[in-house]
Amino acid sequence: MKAALPLRVALVGPRETAYGDDPDREHREEMRRSYAEICRDAVALGSDYTLSREFLGIEYLAATLRRAGHHVRIFSAADEGLDDAQLVGRLAEFAPAIAGLSLLYDLQLPSALTAAAELKRIRPDTFVLFGGPLASAISELLLENFPFIDAVVEGEGETAMARLAEAIAAGGDLGTVPSLVRRQDSGIARSSRAAPADLDTLPHPSRDVIAGLRERGLPVPSAYLTTSRGCKAFCTFCTVPNVVRGMGEATYRMRDPRDVVDEMEACVRDLGVTRFYMADDNFLGYGEASNRRMIAFADEILRRGLAIRFHAECRVDSLVPETLVRLREAGFDQILFGLESGSTKTLKRWAKGQTVAENEAAMALARQLRLDVMPSIILLDWESGLDEVEDTIGFIERTQLWRSSQPLWLVNKLKVHCGTAAARRHDKVRGKPVLPHLDPADAASRARWCAAATCQKTPIDNPHVAAFWSALNGEANRWSVLVDEILPPLLKTLRDRARHEDGTALDRIRRIAAYRRGIGGALAELMRCLVDAAAEREAYGRPPASLEACARSAVAAFEERHFPSGIDAWVTPIRDRPVSARPLPAARSRVAVG
Ligand code: SF4
Repeated sequence: MKAALPLRVALVGPRETAYGDDPDREHREEMRRSYAEICRDAVALGSDYTLSREFLGIEYLAATLRRAGHHVRIFSAADEGLDDAQLVGRLAEFAPAIAGLSLLYDLQLPSALTAAAELKRIRPDTFVLFGGPLASAISELLLENFPFIDAVVEGEGETAMARLAEAIAAGGDLGTVPSLVRRQDSGIARSSRAAPADLDTLPHPSRDVIAGLRERGLPVPSAYLTTSRGCKAFCTFCTVPNVVRGMGEATYRMRDPRDVVDEMEACVRDLGVTRFYMADDNFLGYGEASNRRMIAFADEILRRGLAIRFHAECRVDSLVPETLVRLREAGFDQILFGLESGSTKTLKRWAKGQTVAENEAAMALARQLRLDVMPSIILLDWESGLDEVEDTIGFIERTQLWRSSQPLWLVNKLKVHCGTAAARRHDKVRGKPVLPHLDPADAASRARWCAAATCQKTPIDNPHVAAFWSALNGEANRWSVLVDEILPPLLKTLRDRARHEDGTALDRIRRIAAYRRGIGGALAELMRCLVDAAAEREAYGRPPASLEACARSAVAAFEERHFPSGIDAWVTPIRDRPVSARPLPAARSRVAVG
């Protein structure tokens, strides 16, 4: 195929969709409906706030292709509020020569396949390309099953996309494009991977998503940014090792700190962004060279007087106290450690390469520096024993990790991602997933296939752990809907009223704030109460039992302290008309026990 220059290239960040039989998602939907009914006259749910999720990978590709003279448009379905039909409509209207769909997560797969299938049907000349960590992990599976996908880029995309656009524009041989997997008469063909990109020669990412949010008058909480790429570790559950596979010395690469600060300065100046979310896999890096770079980075921010704040993620074994102090001065205020677990056994099984003692020392240092610590704990996986869960809960208690601004992140079960060592182990122990019959043209059939191919179901082996998880996760889901989706708009309504009314609204705002602050402590108590109950049954050889009632009464006691008359009485007085009393929606058991 040959296309006129400049090529029209669409880069798509597909929206996430819940898998139909995902019990957590179903439960959250049910909770959301219940609360929305309670609050329907009091607040306009979700109508006035949004959260930006930038697809940095796509933004780098856009900048690279634009530098080569191509006409590129980014379609971020979530940020633009596009459902699948609307996305396809926009894509068809743009009429791209290449449509590149980026798959970070399994939840994006059904929507990406729907968009690709429809676009190919409407515009068969479009070259449909998939890329990103998930597509890299299941490239052959995608090409074998979905004829509307022309090729998949594995690993980093900048070089491959630029060369693909060149080849298509010239009507040349796609066999010369690196990192490309495609169908041929003889079967699936894979070209060798492109050399790792020199990060200092890449253009700064195109910030179309943020510009779009600003145009629509929506808030922009932060800009995503990378100062390095890759990671030298091989944690079994992580998708990064597959992305950097075969890169040798270039597995971890760093950018010139002055160029990073140039990019930040441009974001402040052009987009009004003052908060940054560093998307590096290990921000602090490795060894002396990384340490010098971090100090230079902090010094450059301070020298230019940039009033910014930033979040970053790193391994606990990369901390250097003096460097952290300097970074703190430069605006580093929130850290996400890859703690993962408080159990030595679990850390070893996941090949984390760090100890519980290192985790504790990292937490102590972060507290000393008054960094907000985001809890990156994976409480359990499908193989966890109750002893491992107890160890991790003990760690959460000792380090007071529940004091974080996001305590509900502690309720986290390991997701087995495609292409990881954890997925290979799961396949070995439980057998490869049996994929259902697929009709590639049928959306429902595709969704069933996606759920099986991306390992959505990993039931917990130990029934006592399963009972613990079911009860804990039910209450956490309930809290999560309240905290993430109900309280923010409710608070906004109350704040508006507080400006015009007496102190009633202000008093309620204070009570909500106290309730939210209390959730971390209540969650820690709930974990302890449930794990002790499960451990007692296991220790005495009793069969596992549902712990839902135990969880509900613990949470009810906590909520009564804040809202003695229940949530209805709390919401009703701010309505314009009275409503019938309605009990709190209950958490629901989702794991068969016994
Ligand atoms: S340290 Fe983090 S980025 Fe690196 S492999 Fe482990 S989980 Fe992945």
